[in-house]
Amino acid sequence: MISSEFDTIAAISTPLGEGGIGIIRISGKDAIPIVSKIFHSPRGVKLSDVKSHTIHYGFIIDPKTGQKIDEVLVTVMRAPNTYTREDVVEINCHAGYVTLKKILDLVVCLGARLAEPGEFTKRAFLRGRIDLSQAESVIDLIRAKTEQAQKIALEHLSGKLSEKINELRDSLMRVCAHVEAYIDFPEEDIDGLTHEQIQSEINRIKEEIKRLIEGYEEGKIYREGLRAAIVGKPNVGKSSLLNALLMKDRAIVTEIPGTTRDIIEEYINIKGMPLKIVDTAGIREAHDLVEAEGIKRSLRAVELAELILLVLDSSRPIDSLDEEIINKVIHRKVIVVINKKDIKSKEFQLPETLKDKPAVEISALKGDGIQQLKELIFNTTISGKYEQEGVIVTKLRHKVALENAIEALENALKSFEKKEPLEITAMFLREALSFLGQIVGVVTTEEILNLIFSEFCIGK
Ligand code: GDP
Repeated sequence: MISSEFDTIAAISTPLGEGGIGIIRISGKDAIPIVSKIFHSPRGVKLSDVKSHTIHYGFIIDPKTGQKIDEVLVTVMRAPNTYTREDVVEINCHAGYVTLKKILDLVVCLGARLAEPGEFTKRAFLRGRIDLSQAESVIDLIRAKTEQAQKIALEHLSGKLSEKINELRDSLMRVCAHVEAYIDFPEEDIDGLTHEQIQSEINRIKEEIKRLIEGYEEGKIYREGLRAAIVGKPNVGKSSLLNALLMKDRAIVTEIPGTTRDIIEEYINIKGMPLKIVDTAGIREAHDLVEAEGIKRSLRAVELAELILLVLDSSRPIDSLDEEIINKVIHRKVIVVINKKDIKSKEFQLPETLKDKPAVEISALKGDGIQQLKELIFNTTISGKYEQEGVIVTKLRHKVALENAIEALENALKSFEKKEPLEITAMFLREALSFLGQIVGVVTTEEILNLIFSEFCIGK
């Protein structure tokens, strides 16, 4: 059977596993008739007759065998005021996998199709309830790791980014209309923008798009988190630092060098910025196989990290092993964490090569300086673009579209300044418009949609 966007679709919308309740969501024109066939109300309620947005108590019964499957609450929501703008029925049942699966099977037997990942949200987009950038933010809302990330995702879902993009599109459309008017009526004295005004308006739009692009690095960090690796030779206090940052005993701390054999990954929240922190085994020659594996992995973690927290032990002078590690990370974004300040030795000297790196003295053991370290991590990463602009780009797809729009605008300006035929300027302006349109989804392809919605979970 070829699936179509008009099929009635169904999925388990809650995470699988034991829980209080599980929800099966059904959307489409047959949602109410299908559930009517398996829903039995002790008070004789007929779902086909109930008002929209009402909830009903009853049982799910297999119509073939008459077997009672679960005691449920069924919510009926009629189009168009629903998530998908279609009729939606949600069956709230007990969350065991067997129950959920049985009910889903019944619904499918009666004509619904299993929903693809993100298909409910895709329908919300296709039926025009939300635009593409709003639809995309649904997944960010689900995955948000800090309140700040959640706030940004919710703003995008409410259309804050779309508003900004649409404003830019409107301005660009006006410029385009003026340019095209000059093409159509070259001889006439059009009551429109002068050539200088057209030029400055294109420049203004270009600058605004540039500012959005500049915010991307920060936006991406709020959305995906910043990957940081804690690096240093054995016994400098890496695990202790991780514990101090997490404020709970997650990693095993021991006094035997080289015991952090596995990589431990955790998110911590620094003023709304999710920091994905990786504690690594000390980088050094391996003494046994397990440790060798740990070291291999930690080198990989260092490679992938966007920020290195280089830990040095200030109770001892720097030695050749420290130097070796410093050399491995010196060209990366590094914060120097000078640990064990409570037992700092006079012989400890910060190496010259690290003098221009941001540094902080701490005692991981006593929790001293941890707040300063967090501030330093935040300040070296977050430039305040979101605070300044009030809207921020968080997705690579959007950033690429904005960059393409800038390129098209630059081409438009060049052709305009060179006094090439206005048709060429107009063509580049249209191109820029189309790139902006890709963000909100007025210009889109099936391929882009599939790519976006395949990232979603089933049932959303
Ligand atoms: P790792 O091998 O780098 O992960 O180091 P650990 O976190 O396991 O710490 C090694 C030893 O140093 C442990 O005995 C810790 O208690 C001790 N240590 C860690 N941080 C400090 C600190 O700030 N001050 C003092 N005095 N000892 C510390």
